[in-house]
Amino acid sequence: MRRQRNAKIVATLGPASATVGIIRALFDAGVDMFRLNFSHGSHQQHQERIAMIRQVERDVGRPIGVLMDLQGPKLRVGTFAAGPIVLLSGAQFRLDLDPKPGDVDRVCLPHPEIFAALKPGTDLLLDDGKIRLEVTQCGHDFAQTRVVIGGALSERKGVNVPQVLLPLSALTAKDRRDLAFGLELGVDWLALSFVQRPEDIDEARELVRGRAQIMTKLEKPAAVERLDEIIAKSDAVMVARGDLGVELPAEQVPAIQKRTVRSCRAAGKPVIVATQMLDSMVSSPVPTRAEASDVATAIYDGADAVMLSAESASGKYPVEAVQMMDRIILQVEKDPICRQFMEASHTPPQHTMADAICCALRHVTKLMHPAAIVTYTSSGHTSLRAARERPEAPILSMTPAIGTARRLAFVWGVHSVHTHEIADVQEMVDYATQTALSEGFAQSKDIIVIAAGMPFATPGTTNLLRIAQL
Ligand code: PGA
Ligand code: MN
Repeated sequence: MRRQRNAKIVATLGPASATVGIIRALFDAGVDMFRLNFSHGSHQQHQERIAMIRQVERDVGRPIGVLMDLQGPKLRVGTFAAGPIVLLSGAQFRLDLDPKPGDVDRVCLPHPEIFAALKPGTDLLLDDGKIRLEVTQCGHDFAQTRVVIGGALSERKGVNVPQVLLPLSALTAKDRRDLAFGLELGVDWLALSFVQRPEDIDEARELVRGRAQIMTKLEKPAAVERLDEIIAKSDAVMVARGDLGVELPAEQVPAIQKRTVRSCRAAGKPVIVATQMLDSMVSSPVPTRAEASDVATAIYDGADAVMLSAESASGKYPVEAVQMMDRIILQVEKDPICRQFMEASHTPPQHTMADAICCALRHVTKLMHPAAIVTYTSSGHTSLRAARERPEAPILSMTPAIGTARRLAFVWGVHSVHTHEIADVQEMVDYATQTALSEGFAQSKDIIVIAAGMPFATPGTTNLLRIAQL
C-alpha cells in the first residue's frame, strides 16, 4: 500500500471513531498517525483504541504512528451551586480557593500557584476566551476581578492567563500517571500541552527516557517568544491553534503558524498544523471554502502534517473529513506553484556528514529523476534529514526498529517500512531494490538513490550515497 502524497494526515480518535471498523476506514481514507487526547476518555478506552490501531496496523501491513496528547496544566474553574451563571459586563467576580460551589459573585479556581502570579491589570480568559475578566485586587488565595466581557459560565470551564509566565510545570500529577500508562502501552509520540519554557521539555525527557519522541504543542505566548530554543529541544512541534488563538489575538495566529513551520523545516523537525482545519465538518459533510484553503496553506508552506480534532473524534463525518484532507493535499501537491514555494522556502543544510549526503540526494534527484530515494535508518535521523530537503522523489525509509518505523509515519514525503537488519553494501542495494519494487515505487530499469550509514545499525553515521539501476 502506497500513498500518493507527501504531506501526512493525523486524526484524533474519540467517541465517533472508537471501533476497529472506523479506525480501518480512517486509515484507508488517508490517516497516517492517530492522536489519543488524554484530556478526555478513560485509561481503558485509550488502551482499547491503541489495541485497535495495532490490529489495523497488522491487517494493512503498514506502520502507523500513535500520538499521546497529554492534557497539561489546563486551568479550570470549579462548580456552581445552581447551574450555569451569567456574568454581566462591569460586574465584580471573585475567584478563590474555597471548594464550596460558586454563584454569581464567586467561584473556586483550585490552583493555588496561580494567585501568586496574578497582578492587578492581569486578564483572565474563560471558556475559550469568550469571557474576559480583569484582576483588580489579589492575594495569595483570591483574585477580585471586573467582568470586561460577560457571558454564561458553566462549571469546569477552562481559564487562560495569557500574559503571565505561570509557575507551573508542563506535567501535572495526572499527566505523569497518563504518561506512565501510555509508555507502558508503547505510544510512539508524546505531545506536551501548554509548554512555556525550554526546561519544560527537559523535564518530560527525563521521565520518558527515550521510550517515545517528544512533540511540543505551541499554544502559549511565552513559548512563542522562545520558539527557536523550544524547537531545538523538541523532536517535533504542533501548532496548536485552538489555545494559541485564545492566549493571543486570532490575527496573530497566521504569522506564528508560518514562522513555526519555516523554523521547524529549517531545523529538520517535523511540524503539524492543528485545530479547526475542517471544523464545519463536525456537523456538515462538506467544509467551507475557507477551511479548504486553510488546509492548502499548510501544505504550500511545507508542513509535515495537518490534523483533525473534533472532526474525527466526535463529528458526524470523520471519514469524509479525512477524504477531504487527502483530496486537498493531492491537489495542492500537483500544483507547480507548490514546488516553487517549497524551493523558495528551503534553507541551507548544516555542515554535517548526514546533511552533506542528503543535500547530494536532493541534487542527484533533480539530475537523475530516481523513482525513489531509499534511506536506511536505525534512529530515524537519516530519513528526517532527507525529508528536510523536501526532495522531488518519494523517500522510502527502511528500518529494522519498529518504533522508528512508526515514529516516521507522519513525516513529509516518508514512506516508512519495517525491515530486517542488513550486513553489507551489496545486501543494502539488493534489499533496497526489492523493497522499491514490492512497495510499488519502482519498476525494472528505474533508478533509485540510496542513503545509509556505515557501519550499519549505528545511529548518526550517515555517510554513504549509492545510485542503483533496477
Ligand atoms: P487541545 O490542543 O485540543 O488539547 O486543546 C490543541 C489546541 O489547543 O489547538
Ligand atoms: Mn490546546
